[in-house]
Amino acid sequence: MRPDHPDETGACAGTDLTDGALRELYARAARVRREVKGDHVFLRGLVEFSNHCRCNCLYCGLRRDNAAVSRFRMTDDEIVASARAAAQAGADTVVLQSGEDPAYGRERVAELIRKIKGLTGLAVTLSLGNRSPAAYLLWKKAGADRYLIKHETADPALYARMHPGDTLANRLDALKRLYDLGYEPGTGFIIGLPGQTLDILHRDIELVGEIKASMCGVGPFMPQQNTPLAGHENGSVERTLYAVAMLRIKYPHLNLPATTALASLAPDQGHQLALNAGANVIMPSFTPAEYSRNYTIYDGKTKVSMDDAKKAVCQTRDRSPDDTA
Ligand code: SAH
Ligand code: SF4
Repeated sequence: MRPDHPDETGACAGTDLTDGALRELYARAARVRREVKGDHVFLRGLVEFSNHCRCNCLYCGLRRDNAAVSRFRMTDDEIVASARAAAQAGADTVVLQSGEDPAYGRERVAELIRKIKGLTGLAVTLSLGNRSPAAYLLWKKAGADRYLIKHETADPALYARMHPGDTLANRLDALKRLYDLGYEPGTGFIIGLPGQTLDILHRDIELVGEIKASMCGVGPFMPQQNTPLAGHENGSVERTLYAVAMLRIKYPHLNLPATTALASLAPDQGHQLALNAGANVIMPSFTPAEYSRNYTIYDGKTKVSMDDAKKAVCQTRDRSPDDTA
């Protein structure tokens, strides 16, 4: 893990603030969360149903060129059963996530949405990567509520480097299209992606407003051994919390998950740290263990259970935000 020590100017872990100023920022963000969102933490149940992917994002272990990953696809019945398990456990939303996998075509996904909504009554979020405009339209009509597709980095050159054959403009078009169709769009970006400067991070934060996102997932970069970025350092915990807190203060109504990547980097405390820096969402996984062990987006990915999520919420409520200062 990269040490979160101050540099020679006193600034901490790739931010422009001293340690004391960072603590104040987190406490302020936690106060804003309380005032605007109350104490409620949304629990989004994640079903990661396929790790096949036609893309080759440099940072991701599911990339097309990674021959070392053992690929799986869940059946429709398994997907629906996992969604029902999420509903029974008390999740408020089902998030269907996968690599960009054409095996789950337009009609198939539409049918899954109808079934899951019919059986659970929960909101459905899709996180299926870049798909066709006709698919976005059909899935909206089938009842999908939200679509999560992160802008990943606000820097066009860095985006192009990380996503062979794709552009930031293309990703932003998709986000705009989803917004225009009536989805609540979710975006997000990766902290400490190799090449991310503090200036780019500030542009990431600006871009969230321009996208008119309802949700923004911010997680640290975590290297994966079978990718071209294997040898790079992970993003820092403090820089991640800095971004979460800045987002909460700038966009008080935004839904901000305490990400699994942060929980993987800081086991036992990642969720709580993020909730205390303004986050208000946790995404426990309902992917069956036999599959989730191969959903290896990055090394050391933890599987967040509903119990983990509830524990983090209770521990956070036991402390006043100012205790973190
Ligand atoms: N294929 C879909 C959904 C699965 S990937 C998509 O790309 O949108 C979900 C997220 O995992 C991506 O948006 C990316 O931000 C994150 N991710 C991938 N590899 C990562 C890594 N090495 N470290 C941190 N986050 C990563
Ligand atoms: Fe595929 Fe998503 Fe990973 Fe990119 S980030 S390789 S689209 S699963």
